[in-house]
Amino acid sequence: MRLLLVEDDVALAGQLAAALGEAGYAVDVAHDGEEGHFLGDTEPYDAVVLDLGLPKLDGLTVLGRWRDDGRAMPVLILTARDRWSDKVAGIDAGADDYLAKPFHMEEMLARIRALLRRASGHASNELRCGPIRLDTRTARVSLEDRAVGLTALEYRLLSYLMHHQGRVVSRSELIEHLYDQNFDRDSNTIEVFVGRLRRKLGRQWIQTVRGLGYRLDPSGHVS
Ligand code: CA
Repeated sequence: MRLLLVEDDVALAGQLAAALGEAGYAVDVAHDGEEGHFLGDTEPYDAVVLDLGLPKLDGLTVLGRWRDDGRAMPVLILTARDRWSDKVAGIDAGADDYLAKPFHMEEMLARIRALLRRASGHASNELRCGPIRLDTRTARVSLEDRAVGLTALEYRLLSYLMHHQGRVVSRSELIEHLYDQNFDRDSNTIEVFVGRLRRKLGRQWIQTVRGLGYRLDPSGHVS
């Protein structure tokens, strides 16, 4: 899953981006409203963390423009403490949730998990596919109750497929949702990571749909 973080406080943005990275997300960071708006308008993020007080273009304007243009990704806004009117304006402008500063990192992570869960129609933080379980709270994966060690990119790939279980996901969609904008996307191919996941989890769950991409199939039937 790939997130956009728009926060002009550079130190805070660095801390949040580090925590999001550790939680298994690819993260792009923008430090002003214009850049944030541009990225959210052109890149397919799974969720956005948007500060409201931003230079160049304020967060409410950014959010309003995205929504006017039909950009429907989940957005968590960061508001100043005790500014209830900001929360109301933000939600009315199309925010899905808000967090008042200062906040605990764990709360931000829990709210993002909830947004991603809702966006993909899942009821629980633990995603399952046959004997595979992925816990989005701990970023841990198990196979038949035994822990499976995955690299950050393997985890991201599996997490994206599990959130979109049963649907064919193209290679280009995977590339867009697994890597941040600074990543050299040419040097790593999705096929390599799919191969590694199959070796670790069994070949039958991630199916290749010729010419279209991959599908995670909980029945494990090889098509
Ligand atoms: Ca700010």
